[in-house]
Amino acid sequence: MISFSNEGMRRLLAGYRNFFNGNPVRKGFCALHAEQIADTQNPHSMVVSCFDSRVCPEAIFDTNDGHICVHRNMLNQIDKEDFSMVASLRFAVKNLQVENIVILGHSDCNAVAKLKHLEELPPELRAWLDRTHTCYRGESLEAAVKNNVLDQLAHLHSIDFVAEEEASRGLKLEGFYFHIDDGRMERWNNADSVWTFVPTEEKDAC
Ligand SMILES: [Zn+2]
Repeated sequence: MISFSNEGMRRLLAGYRNFFNGNPVRKGFCALHAEQIADTQNPHSMVVSCFDSRVCPEAIFDTNDGHICVHRNMLNQIDKEDFSMVASLRFAVKNLQVENIVILGHSDCNAVAKLKHLEELPPELRAWLDRTHTCYRGESLEAAVKNNVLDQLAHLHSIDFVAEEEASRGLKLEGFYFHIDDGRMERWNNADSVWTFVPTEEKDAC
């Protein structure tokens, strides 16, 4: 049994099951759907994902156009001094009233691995990765990526307008870890402080 928290999360987890089982309902351009979203958008969630080309949030959560907002950067960072990041976040939270903000980390994250060797990097890479306000923490790359996800959730909690929406309407902040090699997904369970695998069969989810 897994908790959904809200309709947006139920849809994300159902979409993930579709993705994992090779039964996506996501379509390419569809005139009927395009007409429905021509004048408005009503996304249920915002996903902050790493830059890695192997991690595609719209595919992993099997969403169609208009369902989720996606912001991507190396390390899936919540950087409060990044104007692009903060502007996207504020618009999603305050204007679009998304139900969830998801931080999506992943296996084999080269950006997290590079945190161990910042001094060896060219300045353009070092300048960004050093802004993560985190560091390589953990016995393995997987542990370090997961800890980085938790660091970014903490950064989210510390943003005033995010905290306001958590308190006033139950905005949820969620951490996920995607296994590139086999498609499995883990979700951070804040109540028990553990990562748990997301069910891939419908019977396990409801
Ligand atoms: Zn990455």
